[in-house]
Amino acid sequence: MARKIKRILKSKTTLEGAGVKLKRVFGAREVPMFDPFLLFDHFGSDIPDDYIKGFPWHPHRGIETVTYMLSGEVEHGDSMGNKGVIKSGDVQWMTAGSGIIHQEMPKRYSGVMQGFQLWVNLPAAKKMIPPRYRGILEEQIPTLKKEGAKIKVIAGTLDHTEGPVQDLVVDVGYLDITLEAKNTFEHTTKKGYKVFAYLIEGSGYFDDELIGPQHCVLFDNGNVVKIKSDDKLRFLLISGSPLNEPIAWGGPIVMNTREELEIAFLELDEGTFIKRGNSVKAARGFYQD
Ligand code: MN
Repeated sequence: MARKIKRILKSKTTLEGAGVKLKRVFGAREVPMFDPFLLFDHFGSDIPDDYIKGFPWHPHRGIETVTYMLSGEVEHGDSMGNKGVIKSGDVQWMTAGSGIIHQEMPKRYSGVMQGFQLWVNLPAAKKMIPPRYRGILEEQIPTLKKEGAKIKVIAGTLDHTEGPVQDLVVDVGYLDITLEAKNTFEHTTKKGYKVFAYLIEGSGYFDDELIGPQHCVLFDNGNVVKIKSDDKLRFLLISGSPLNEPIAWGGPIVMNTREELEIAFLELDEGTFIKRGNSVKAARGFYQD
């Protein structure tokens, strides 16, 4: 059975971080509609003033943040001692677990700086795991070429091709799909998984409805998603296994109860937020690049 459209959302311009103008596709207001996903932002601008102030040092706990750059560069650093630049085509999969403090600072870029950040919720039993950081370079991401289609497999599986991000806490599929005009893409999705598409450019038919750029399509239950391009279409197709757990959301920290949030903010005040052993030295084992 093909998945029908459950909701169509248009992204909204929002200010975040130290004053970054971005498009919020969904966030706290939509909870728990996209479970296991909490938030999805699209940042894109050719005006450096829109993004240059970036996201200076801030904490995260209880979630993963997945940053995918289409074009441009983001410099990052974190409390585990990781430092680097996420470049065009690269992905950063960051598991905050028990807690990290990091900064994400876009660099001045000539042309359109464009990327996405997805927040994946962690299940109660895994919220306090040691933080983990994974940087994936563009060349590590397999690209499948079919007639009229080009698909980058960032996470999950497509036609026996596996994405480079393995051993995920929450099973997530993340595909970047480009269809030439008047082409069809069909993808079998796992039963009960939440599936959404976000249109980057062009337009196409999602279950017979014509959708344009900066719109998000949340699919209903079913087995297959069917998408037909009208003109040349580029979109992300993201799926995940729902957690069905209570959500207590406090800015960059997402837990299950108010008490857990209060503890997190108290620990931030007292300087005990970063757990022993997760400092620079102990984190080396988790560091990949
Ligand atoms: Mn962050």
